[in-house]
Amino acid sequence: MGESTQSKTKDNIYKLPTDKVYEVLGTTPGGLSKEVAEQRQKEHGKNIIETIKKKSALLTFLANFTHLMAILLWVGGLVAFWADMPQLGVAIWLVNVINGVFSFWQESRADKATEALKNMLPSYARVLRSGEEQKILSEDLVPGDIILLEEGDKISADARIIECSDFQVDQSTLTGESNPVRKTKDAILKDDLTHAEIPNLIFAGTSVAEGNGKAVVMDIGMHTEFGKIAYLTQNMQKENSPLQKELNRVTKQVSIIAISFGVVFFFASTFLVKESVAASFIFALGMVVAFIPEGLLPTVTLALAMAVQRMSKRNALVKKLSSVETLGSTTVICTDKTGTLTQNEMTVSHLWLAEKQFSVSGVGYAPSGDILLSNKKVMASEDEDLRLLLSAAALCSNARLLPPGEESARYTVLGDPTEACLGVVAEKAGIDVKKQSELTPRLRELPFESRRKRMTTIHQLEKPMEGTNRIAYVKGAPKEVMKLSDSIRVNGTIIPMEEEMRNKIMEANDNYARKGLRVLAVAYRLIHKNDDVPKNMSAYTPEIIEKELVFVGLIVMADPPRPEVASAVEECHRAGIRIIMITGDYGLTAESIAKRIGIVKGKHPRVVSGLELEALTDEQLKEYLKDEIIFARVAPEQKLRVVTNLQEMGEIVAVTGDGVNDSPALKKADIGVAMGIAGTDVAKEAADMILTDDNFASIVHAIEEGRAVYSNIQKFMLYILNSNMPEAVPSALYLFSKGAIPLPLTVMQILTIDLGTDMLPALGLGTEKPEEGIMNQPPRKQNQPLLHKKLIIKAFLWYGLLGSIGSTISYFFVNIQNGWPSVPLAGDGSDIYLKATAMALAAIVFTQIGAVFNCRTEKQSVFKVGLFSNKRVNFGIVFEIMLIFLFVYLPPLQSVFHTAALDLTDWLFLCIWPPLILLLEELRKRIVRNKEAIKVKEG
Ligand code: ATP
Repeated sequence: MGESTQSKTKDNIYKLPTDKVYEVLGTTPGGLSKEVAEQRQKEHGKNIIETIKKKSALLTFLANFTHLMAILLWVGGLVAFWADMPQLGVAIWLVNVINGVFSFWQESRADKATEALKNMLPSYARVLRSGEEQKILSEDLVPGDIILLEEGDKISADARIIECSDFQVDQSTLTGESNPVRKTKDAILKDDLTHAEIPNLIFAGTSVAEGNGKAVVMDIGMHTEFGKIAYLTQNMQKENSPLQKELNRVTKQVSIIAISFGVVFFFASTFLVKESVAASFIFALGMVVAFIPEGLLPTVTLALAMAVQRMSKRNALVKKLSSVETLGSTTVICTDKTGTLTQNEMTVSHLWLAEKQFSVSGVGYAPSGDILLSNKKVMASEDEDLRLLLSAAALCSNARLLPPGEESARYTVLGDPTEACLGVVAEKAGIDVKKQSELTPRLRELPFESRRKRMTTIHQLEKPMEGTNRIAYVKGAPKEVMKLSDSIRVNGTIIPMEEEMRNKIMEANDNYARKGLRVLAVAYRLIHKNDDVPKNMSAYTPEIIEKELVFVGLIVMADPPRPEVASAVEECHRAGIRIIMITGDYGLTAESIAKRIGIVKGKHPRVVSGLELEALTDEQLKEYLKDEIIFARVAPEQKLRVVTNLQEMGEIVAVTGDGVNDSPALKKADIGVAMGIAGTDVAKEAADMILTDDNFASIVHAIEEGRAVYSNIQKFMLYILNSNMPEAVPSALYLFSKGAIPLPLTVMQILTIDLGTDMLPALGLGTEKPEEGIMNQPPRKQNQPLLHKKLIIKAFLWYGLLGSIGSTISYFFVNIQNGWPSVPLAGDGSDIYLKATAMALAAIVFTQIGAVFNCRTEKQSVFKVGLFSNKRVNFGIVFEIMLIFLFVYLPPLQSVFHTAALDLTDWLFLCIWPPLILLLEELRKRIVRNKEAIKVKEG
């Protein structure tokens, strides 16, 4: 067949019956072989959507030189040239260039960090290759691959459906239409449909909203409909996060302080020292430049990006940098139970039939263990009801058990663990599940839905029963299945289900649930020809099939809490974070687990079921939400209501979820947390954070990191603000002594500190690890500004004061040795004056060394976290010492920065400052800690 004819046939693929589809797309019902797939990848390339070119690097680079602050500095430099101070002009411009390059460098590092994270989130596809089901990277899909899809899966290529059951697809990414669209496998003969309207085609970038299906890949990558419009990348826009907005506000606040200082200094210089207007202007300009926190914004971005990287090492992938700060202020975590708080490694422990109860030995997924009746081993072949219970449950499951192999030394599971353990227990009872499913082939599935809480499969019986060979197996939540049953099997006979029996079943269920066990009920229905059901099986719905059931029994499984969860829960409580369990599981099971891991402390916590929740008004719900509460048997959709009400109460809410129906709640939450293992692609897309280990404890670690970032930004601010004082105080001395004390620090020297020596240690502070005790404090209040009063006072009046004393004394130290007050006035080039200013400059650098250690912790002793444990800070200190040596000893720099060589005694004198400042602050921290300890004791 010529290529154009082939592509024409391909264009009409939706008109062909399924068996023709294989032929046209060059594949078989068992999928492609490995060799063919490799060959096709060579021909067609990888299945990726090439991102549209980002803003050019040059434009991003230039943006760092054209924002308001940069423009101010350009103008400032120009003024300096105009005032005949070219050195200062060059310096200010250089400041601007350094700042711009620095910002660009950090931004691109942050970008790279987030880019790397995106790559850590590969999406997978399930395919049939050589007849075997495999999980491969979506980018490795090739035309002709057969993909297997189920509810919540993202579709990674354009494909033609060949098998499906109740299949609905959310095509909103392509069409904007948010209602799911029903799809079918049947050939479509109409001609007037748009691509998206063709019911047997599915498209990359869309997702499965309901049901499951099989499809053959037609197009991949840029050839897909999605690739053609490259929807996602074109619409991606960077939005300012609350923290960024807060930082912009802080920059403005500080700029106002700076300009105010500038104005005061200008007038003082003109009127008190009687300097010329131009000289005063330059002097004031220097002060303003010194005060503006130039490196703040990019450093914060970098601190966030590094936190995100640290979090990823602790199993939490954060999709947006801004989520990190929200995490830090979380006040409530709404968590589901199965898999998040528990291990999701189910082991059947008991089996219940109306007249007999069995226990099951063995743990994990290995099918070794026995079914025991009064300690005696029983096989399924010996008891018809037991056989029915176990084979029905196993056949009504989609999970597959993978024996130990290259990837894992243990039995592992592909699919839902609740289902996997059913296969295991059937094998323990001697049932060959694979053979059984061949003998009793599945005809149709009514998939599990958390709303219905059950699942049904219809099978063809090997031998007819009661005149029919069609049977429906139902498994699901006991109460729900029992409600639909009108009879029960007791010792091989079917008897009507009386009230007494219903009570007996519920009593057994509750007894198991109280022990924290998870219970599933199994029932069946024989479908007779004369039953009131449609002939066409694809018209079967749960309403038609799931009724008049024969109840068989209960299967009880243990899903123990994760070992690390109890301490994580306790940590949350210490950190003032509430935990609310919202689960689809039964109330008593949920309560038992919640008590065991310490989520609830009261003897009788309030357990609200989905039904009860529906009946509550928002006011009542809010009242309930003030106390300990568990939500059980709720549908995922109901999570949204709980979240909304909590948010209306002023809480910052993190919510976990894994299913398609969890997405609204995940989106609404301040932090949506999706499960990386059990989560559907849709949930992952809606979430802000993904847990790669599905573990509750990882959320708590992420909150800790979130809190640390916020406090690191404050540490950084404290450090850069505090050097403003020792820069301003000496100048004030000069001004207010009306020039009697010669200017201890020139404008050039101030700029040196601000943009030279201070930069790297400050950056190091942004990467501090979470401080001990950070989770012992209540969550940060949302309205608390980043730059709060206490921080400003600490920066200016404590750290700033210490630094000012240090620099002033050091300045006088040189003066006094050289016969103060006969120091020549500024500007005459005297060596002694230059030496004195160099000393003031070096003193600030040295006091800042003490300060950077002090800023590393808020209350804790820095010796406890290890004085030299932050490598970036250490590097920053070495760098600034080298820099100050260059400024003081290198002749060309000496003349630019008005310095002269210092003596050994000067250096020795300077060495007093770091330890002195460090010890004074350690003393203060100790007093604070003692006071707090007393408060705790008294409280
Ligand atoms: P959580 O919401 O904490 O994850 P869960 O897994 O119990 O708990 P859902 O997945 O909503 O919540 O399930 C609700 C109920 O449906 C379960 O408690 C169980 O009784 C039943 N169920 C769960 N999985 C299946 C399944 N594969 N087939 C049939 N019934 C199931």
